[in-house]
Amino acid sequence: TIEENWARSDQYHNSFLIRPDETLDFALKNSAEHGLPSIAVSTSQGKYLNLLARSIGAKRILEVGTLGGYSTIWLARALPEDGKLITFEIDKTHADVAQANINHAGVSSKVQIILGPATDTLAKVERHPDHPFDLAFIDADKENNLTYFLEAKRLLRKGGVIIVDNVVRRGRVADPEVKDESSEGVRKLLRHLKDDRDVDATTIAWVGEKSYDGFLYALLK
Ligand code: SAM
Repeated sequence: TIEENWARSDQYHNSFLIRPDETLDFALKNSAEHGLPSIAVSTSQGKYLNLLARSIGAKRILEVGTLGGYSTIWLARALPEDGKLITFEIDKTHADVAQANINHAGVSSKVQIILGPATDTLAKVERHPDHPFDLAFIDADKENNLTYFLEAKRLLRKGGVIIVDNVVRRGRVADPEVKDESSEGVRKLLRHLKDDRDVDATTIAWVGEKSYDGFLYALLK
């Protein structure tokens, strides 16, 4: 099938570019064993986030939507010894499984999981005057994409990067017949961005083992 074709394509490229990794395999296996849905970023996307964080010298990272901590581990590994990642999760089971995976990955000293609805918990985070965040990865309930985006803007430094996952949704976001909440949440963010002069952004659509979707990549000017 076409899905198998793209999964094979991802795996082919990964076989040259991404080393097998017991820690990340454990995180996925442990998540599945605890009944978490299989909706983490793909291996190549995880590596992409890791490369991006290192490319911009990120020291402080925000993540909305922890799940089992798979993307968290990729991002935390990009941080220097004194780096910090704060990740927001509403589901206690997800947060507990993520904490175990993060401990197993040896990055627990850099990662803090904040439990609760991120619209509330993010609003309580103060902007650090000397150490604002460098990078935000938004990957939670898509209805609240715009709220999360605005909070990330508030908390990031100039030159910081905001990535929003799942903005293409197999092309459904651009299909006016599709009215689901997630697609609507992406459209609301896009409408906002049309007039937001503080950021420059583009959508990078991708295809691979996680089907057809895309990242929004926004740079704070
Ligand atoms: N970033 C993760 C990864 O790639 O490994 C995947 C995150 S998963 C797609 C979305 C997560 O957002 C779920 O664990 C879900 O429980 C969480 N979530 C949903 N609504 C939320 C909310 N209002 N506040 C915080 N987290 C929320």
